[in-house]
Amino acid sequence: MKKVKKLLALSAAAAMLMSMTGCSGSSENSDNTGNAGISTVSEGKLIWATNAEFEPYEYREGDNVVGIDADISAYIAEQLGLEAQCEDMAFDSIIAAVQSGKADMGIAGMTIDEDRLENVDFSTPYTDAGQVIIVKEDSPIKAPADLAGKTIAVQSGTTGDTYASENVDGAKVDRYSKGAEAVMAVLQNKADAVIIDNRPANAYVEKNPGLIILDEPLTVEQYAIAVKKGNTALLSEINRILAEMEENGKMDEIMAKYLGGNEDLTETAE
Ligand code: GLN
Repeated sequence: MKKVKKLLALSAAAAMLMSMTGCSGSSENSDNTGNAGISTVSEGKLIWATNAEFEPYEYREGDNVVGIDADISAYIAEQLGLEAQCEDMAFDSIIAAVQSGKADMGIAGMTIDEDRLENVDFSTPYTDAGQVIIVKEDSPIKAPADLAGKTIAVQSGTTGDTYASENVDGAKVDRYSKGAEAVMAVLQNKADAVIIDNRPANAYVEKNPGLIILDEPLTVEQYAIAVKKGNTALLSEINRILAEMEENGKMDEIMAKYLGGNEDLTETAE
């Protein structure tokens, strides 16, 4: 009886913590048989670090963080018999959070790239993406070559930032902490274009009449989950579960839930 009480108290505490951090993605772990011997940052939990400014991957709905990555995290946690808990932070703090053991994994529409691979290990990729250009409908920028010498708004520390900084001749790169602020800069004529990932670009353009996405994607990228370097126990479990999600249709189900068949831009980026 005492044990039952303790368990109840623990789950109440977990529920409270979840609501404090304002994240959803709770897992129904009662049917699971344990966590495959994985030790996590906080016992019984799988803490996922993200930046909830990246619809449809992670964004706020009321107090909750929802989206493709939230559902993937919840599924992984459930399979491991753990409680998913989200830590919402600046995008460029996520790798450090994983490295320092503040979070078990980083999942944030994060592209596998060489610099990041020096600091964290990545899972197998779970989706493809690409950088695209958002401009105003009447912009003289019609193709990537027209970006030369222009003011480009990006989200700081992203692959869009890297592309603008390294691949566009004479560009002035304005860095914002949120993608939404970069988009706002174009709407307010403070910048000529935004370079950002295709699916979030879609979400912004749908919400802001007068903006368009240029057809030609700039990059082909793959998103994956980051874990602390050398944490092979967690990494191999994540990879196993991601493969299972591909097999059993769970990944397609999650994608369909948030993309609603709106796959066109990713097709071009592949
Ligand atoms: N895919 C981009 C990157 O990894 C952007 C991710 C994001 O802004 N959440 O840098």
